[in-house]
Amino acid sequence: MSKKIETSAITAGRPPVTPDAPLNPSIDLTSTFHSGGPIGYGRYGNQTWTSLEEAISELEGGQTLTFSSGMAAISAVFSILPIGAPVVASNQGYSGVMSLLNSFHTSGRLEVRFVDVVNTQEVIDSMKGAALIWLESPTNPCLDVADLEKLIAAAKKLGIGVAVDNTFATPLVQNPLAMGADIVMHSVTKFLSGHSDVLMGSLSTNDPALYKRLHDSRSFNGSIPGPFEAWLALRGLRTFPLRFNKSQENAKELVQRLSGHPKISRVRYPGFGAIVSFEVDGTAEQTQKVCESSTMIAHATSLGGVESLWERRRRWPIESPTVPEQLIRLSVGCEHVDDIWDDITRALNAI
Ligand SMILES: *Cc1c(COP(=O)(O)O)cnc(C)c1O
Repeated sequence: MSKKIETSAITAGRPPVTPDAPLNPSIDLTSTFHSGGPIGYGRYGNQTWTSLEEAISELEGGQTLTFSSGMAAISAVFSILPIGAPVVASNQGYSGVMSLLNSFHTSGRLEVRFVDVVNTQEVIDSMKGAALIWLESPTNPCLDVADLEKLIAAAKKLGIGVAVDNTFATPLVQNPLAMGADIVMHSVTKFLSGHSDVLMGSLSTNDPALYKRLHDSRSFNGSIPGPFEAWLALRGLRTFPLRFNKSQENAKELVQRLSGHPKISRVRYPGFGAIVSFEVDGTAEQTQKVCESSTMIAHATSLGGVESLWERRRRWPIESPTVPEQLIRLSVGCEHVDDIWDDITRALNAI
């Protein structure tokens, strides 16, 4: 990882340089391989995945496995824990993970200790005897920030496994493996791919034995990406630093402007990244109306693409009731900031 991320995103995962070799990996559309090689069958590996996995490894460190979605990657981590294993996790975070952990807890599959992740001491106090701590920072959608350095150090001292969802911060902002985490996870669907055209997830780890167990989980659960999707994700990853930096610059400017708007009661922004959550000074219905009144910003879920999009998170029944009804999560894209702002102010004028 000696190169800068901006460079690695462009140079990593390319085929070897030989005369007339293509610059880009091919899309290996095959379910099986001639015998004698290390892959053998299409559920165990694929050269197009390998190119993408090499590239993500250069950004995050370690060795990487890609999965059919972010949730598939997350499920692989929990799949290798024994029945009833104690897990520490934030009491708010990505709704899919919250739903999964709640169901694991209710069924006895895992014993989940939900904590307030910004309360570092509370998290550390809950770690005793745990098998794993699952950290997401900043959290989706409230953008709370955990003290990752302290929490990872405390967990490591107790011999507890640490997995970090780095989807929101990205390796441009923080590098959990370098802080001592065992696993870093991405919804590759979001910033790394960046064009809202592919679902994918990844896990990276420095531990070869852990890599093998996660690889087995992917192979035998069959939660594999498609070769075409892997190719698309790698194509998107080439411009990830450019896109992220531009979106972040736009987000910082929008935070300033939103903070002075009379119809907005609270703006949440951790100081970095391209997601801004803000609360409308009004009812849930009025907030919904704002989201439906944009003409350029897409009214849609998901985030991390070149296009700005927003939604009222509580429109989803599975979203946590601790998320305010009036909270809009805005994923800031790469359009001109004045056009995004015009659309926001026009939509706010609808109420
Ligand atoms: C979207 C998201 C996920 C889930 O990823 P999918 O690719 O949608 O399965 C997990 N964590 C965070 C923080 C996310 O934003």
